[in-house]
Amino acid sequence: MAQNTSEIFEAIIERVKLLDPANSRKWFDSLAAKSFNGGLLEITCPDKESADFLSDHCSGSFTRAAQQVTGHLVSVKFSSDVKADKGQTAPMSGMGHKLHPDYTFDNFVVGPGNRLAHASCVAVSNSLGRTYNPLFIYGSVGLGKTHLLHAICREARNNCANARIQFLSCEEFVNRFISAIETGSLAEFKALYRTVHLLVIDDVQFLREREHSQEEFFHTFNALYDNRSQIVLSADSPPGQIPSLPERLTSRFKCGLVARIDSPTYETRVAIVQKKARLRGMNISDEVAEHIAGMVKTNIRELEGALTTVYALAGGTEEEISLDIAKQALGNRESVNRNITITDIIKVVTAYYDVRPADLQSKKRSQSIAMPRQICMYLARNLTSHSLEEIGGHLGGRDHTTVMHACSKINDLEKTNNKIHSQLEELTKRIVR
Ligand code: ADP
Ligand code: MG
Repeated sequence: MAQNTSEIFEAIIERVKLLDPANSRKWFDSLAAKSFNGGLLEITCPDKESADFLSDHCSGSFTRAAQQVTGHLVSVKFSSDVKADKGQTAPMSGMGHKLHPDYTFDNFVVGPGNRLAHASCVAVSNSLGRTYNPLFIYGSVGLGKTHLLHAICREARNNCANARIQFLSCEEFVNRFISAIETGSLAEFKALYRTVHLLVIDDVQFLREREHSQEEFFHTFNALYDNRSQIVLSADSPPGQIPSLPERLTSRFKCGLVARIDSPTYETRVAIVQKKARLRGMNISDEVAEHIAGMVKTNIRELEGALTTVYALAGGTEEEISLDIAKQALGNRESVNRNITITDIIKVVTAYYDVRPADLQSKKRSQSIAMPRQICMYLARNLTSHSLEEIGGHLGGRDHTTVMHACSKINDLEKTNNKIHSQLEELTKRIVR
């Protein structure tokens, strides 16, 4: 058993890497224990962003690791030295959304599939409102749209600390709009969103069938556009192909630059695996990177999942991971996954949440039904090779954008919500068993 706080802390970090390889980063080595008194471990982080990342994604694994290492109940608190934290003060508070520390231009691998999107994002972040306005990025799920949007906000903030930036998912925009109506604070809502220098809205396909919000969005858009404020939007399809958006809105979306992101080529996938491995402090050979890139072809999120599987099987070692281990890890994954059907997933999920399969297939939208339904979609996407259309078909004939939206929502919750994280872990265990 470790003797002093710094030794204990080192052991905790090592344990975290084992417990949660997907969220472990090389920069964890620069964390330090500020104090460890009365069951509270205070951890100093290099900046506010990393403290936010740790609080949002890693509280659970740090708490568990600290308990395992010390044998006691420990709570964990992450903080940063505020003085050292320049760009993070007042303007950030209006950002609307925390920026993910991984999602920078530096960490983005450029290849033929995303070259135009990347270049236009860099250009926009360097001169807001003056190059491409609006900038509309589209592509299917897991190809880096959200990553690029975070990178734009970060770069714009670094270039101009006073820039008023609002970054939010379309769903957040809609929800805030609705709650502004309900609480009678529409004037504040308008003042906030119509006076920013940069408005970034992720996943605008969510506007479909939201007539009221479309209307507000249209006016916000026009006000910003007339002010020459920068607007950046992302979606899963090009402007004209988002179902049930009125033409006057889509024609606005098209008036700047529309950039498509295509699936990454093999070479790009190899480079991404290598980049992600370095970020996590993993040591993998070119052979292993090539093997992983060869197995996972479309969604980059899945590429990262494969990397996590390999790391977990290797036991979180710092030594170079062998090709044998990689093959073993991914070979298993494939053979396990081949036998899983959507029906299996529905069975396990409905039993777990105590709902009926017919409810999942119904039009009911209450949270107690919608959540298990979305979890089914997410698990089906990750554990089977069915298409979005097929998955939607099994769950009451929902269209592919609904499935895609569910997947990205649960994917986000999986990272930010400890309860959902462990439920998904448990469900996956029961399904693959
Ligand atoms: P989308 O919003 O298009 O669904 P995300 O931006 O969430 O996709 O990307 C999914 C994951 O893939 C993220 O972890 C992101 O960092 C990673 N990713 C996507 N494209 C790249 C790239 N070109 N280089 C590095 N990482 C990437
Ligand atoms: Mg996204």
